[in-house]
Amino acid sequence: MVKGLCLMGSKVGIPRALLYYYYFPMWRTFFEELGAEVVVSGPSTKSVLNQGVQLAVEDACLPVKLAFGHIAGLARKVDYLFLPRLVSVASREYICPKFLGFPDMVRQTVPHLPPVIDVDVNLYRRNKYLFSAFKEAGKFFTASAARVYLAYRQGLAVLKEYQKLLEAGFMPEEAMNLLTKAAGKKRSPAAFPLSGRSSGQMILAGEEKPMVAVVGHPYNIYDSFISMNILRRLQQAGVKVITADQVPEPVVRAEAAALPKRLFWTLSQRMIGAAFYFLHAGRVQGLLHVTSFGCGPDSMTGELINRRARAAGAVPLLNLVLDEHSGEAGVFTRLEAFLDMVCFRGGKFQEA
Ligand code: SF4
Repeated sequence: MVKGLCLMGSKVGIPRALLYYYYFPMWRTFFEELGAEVVVSGPSTKSVLNQGVQLAVEDACLPVKLAFGHIAGLARKVDYLFLPRLVSVASREYICPKFLGFPDMVRQTVPHLPPVIDVDVNLYRRNKYLFSAFKEAGKFFTASAARVYLAYRQGLAVLKEYQKLLEAGFMPEEAMNLLTKAAGKKRSPAAFPLSGRSSGQMILAGEEKPMVAVVGHPYNIYDSFISMNILRRLQQAGVKVITADQVPEPVVRAEAAALPKRLFWTLSQRMIGAAFYFLHAGRVQGLLHVTSFGCGPDSMTGELINRRARAAGAVPLLNLVLDEHSGEAGVFTRLEAFLDMVCFRGGKFQEA
């Protein structure tokens, strides 16, 4: 890692990929509070993916390849790239090892890289180690530990509001836009759109449309290119979409605790806990599990969800596997057949 104070207004690049969908508002707030300008790569496209496919190792999963493309596009435009080395984001749990080696893989293959801020995020033993990561990142921008701490606290506050918006049913980009507007007014709790709303208040609230739960990694389901805009297509078909991120954390953990052995992958736990909840809460008419080709954790997650769905027998389940060669026609045909089944089981559609 290259260290040294950078000038006010230095540009920090963050790829619109991987855990951007969970943590970007916190990262952006932190860097902006320290005087940096945050630059995000544009939305995913075929050419971004093609670039990523050329740079990444062949057996990398689809979202990792896509992330390489985003980084290649950012590299020449920024003074620093922020690629945290994510090891663990929750106590006694890990996330996929692909995240751990990601900054190293990027360094090996992406040309013209600026200095990479690759601080370790490892909360396996203690949550308070999160500040250590921000402290390291803050050293690039200021020598003032107090300023770094305040920026970190502000980042955490924004993350909390962002998570409330996701739970309330806003999609990540919508939630980020709302936060940006709120920050433009004033960064105070009252300026945030859902300040004071209790966690999970909108979960499975009375809906007349058929409800389909979509469960998958955030970088698969929220990236409209990689997912072929599945969420929007479901909405256009008259379906109310609910995702795993609308299920509050304590519910997810309580549901996942029904497994005979505790899962140590945080993202898999979220998908499984939410899927189990959707299957027994009796309010969704269909369950869609989205995964990417070559994903080890997802093969296990999918099998556990399949077994539970078969045992519950209550709602149609569709497993959708995405890869860079996925033909849109095949995916949409399967989606239509799935929606027919949802309709056959009693869901009544209203065209959006
Ligand atoms: S969990 Fe799966 S999709 Fe996500 S980075 Fe790991 S291998 Fe790729």
